[in-house]
Amino acid sequence: YVKTTGRGGFEFYFEELKTNAKRKILIDTELRKAIDAKDFFLHFQPKVCAQTQQVLGLEALVRWQNEHLGFVSPAEFIDYAEETGLIIPLSEIIFEKACEAQRDLQAQGIHLPMAINVSSIHFQQRSFIPQLLETLRAYDIAAKHFEIEVTERTVMNDSASTIEKLVQLKKLGFKISIDDFGTGYSSLSYLIKFPLDFLKIDRSFIQQITTLDEKQAVVDAIIQMSHRLNMKVVAEGVEQEKQVDLLRAMGCDIIQGYYYSKPLPFEELIAFLSFWDEHM
Ligand code: C2E
Ligand code: MG
Ligand code: MG
Ligand code: MG
Repeated sequence: YVKTTGRGGFEFYFEELKTNAKRKILIDTELRKAIDAKDFFLHFQPKVCAQTQQVLGLEALVRWQNEHLGFVSPAEFIDYAEETGLIIPLSEIIFEKACEAQRDLQAQGIHLPMAINVSSIHFQQRSFIPQLLETLRAYDIAAKHFEIEVTERTVMNDSASTIEKLVQLKKLGFKISIDDFGTGYSSLSYLIKFPLDFLKIDRSFIQQITTLDEKQAVVDAIIQMSHRLNMKVVAEGVEQEKQVDLLRAMGCDIIQGYYYSKPLPFEELIAFLSFWDEHM
């Protein structure tokens, strides 16, 4: 791996390798400690009805703040947890925290379905559904209060066991979303094989819908197709009013993004929801 980037380039590269390796080791150690201590928390991002601007649901997103590493983004530690199998105990903690939050919301009279992200590796575990059910029982919450967000990578593998699991989740009362739609190996065949409720169009399409005709055409087609297949469409990563206007005009059902709200800590979510109720 000799890289020649001028004088001292090799040393810099070597330093970088060392830094990366050190960070991985640190992440590994700290992640294991954090899992033992259940030292994670959730933020919640509202999903807003494109037509009425009502909040229709929430997405729970994991956060990790570590004394040595500072804030580590989920993109980084979820990837690492998937590589090492730590994703399985981590996912259990996340679902417990989601149940806890759902229970606390309901205690305050707030009834909103909460979406959780399920990584492909976790989904494929035989223990996945039994574990969900055990946690639901422990918190005495019904499955209908949750949505399962899976990516195309998960459903692309349309094996009998994947189909069976999705059917079982639906029967239990969970709603199912396809996350990051359009970024994966978009074989569309799975869309008619599975019982899906929501299709979430990835932010990379939304970012340029008002400036690139091609992106707009694709989003338009996804919306039409989803509706024909009885799925609702969620636009992810919506940041601008002109994107909201265009998506609404195109018949998009649900908007999620910084335009309405960033993912919020529990207390701020409560404040946001009461403000929203008063000003709608
Ligand atoms: P995702 O499920 O597609 O979540 C959407 C990501 O986009 C979140 O990033 C969210 O904070 C961000 N986002 C939302 N609206 C906007 C916007 O308007 N503009 C921009 N620039 N970003 C926006 P986050 O929380 O960093 O999560 C990144 C990814 O990490 C998630 O993508 C998901 O794949 C994974 N992840 C997060 N939390 C969990 C979790 O609890 N479990 C699992 N398995 N994966 C998770
Ligand atoms: Mg998601
Ligand atoms: Mg997404
Ligand atoms: Mg994503």
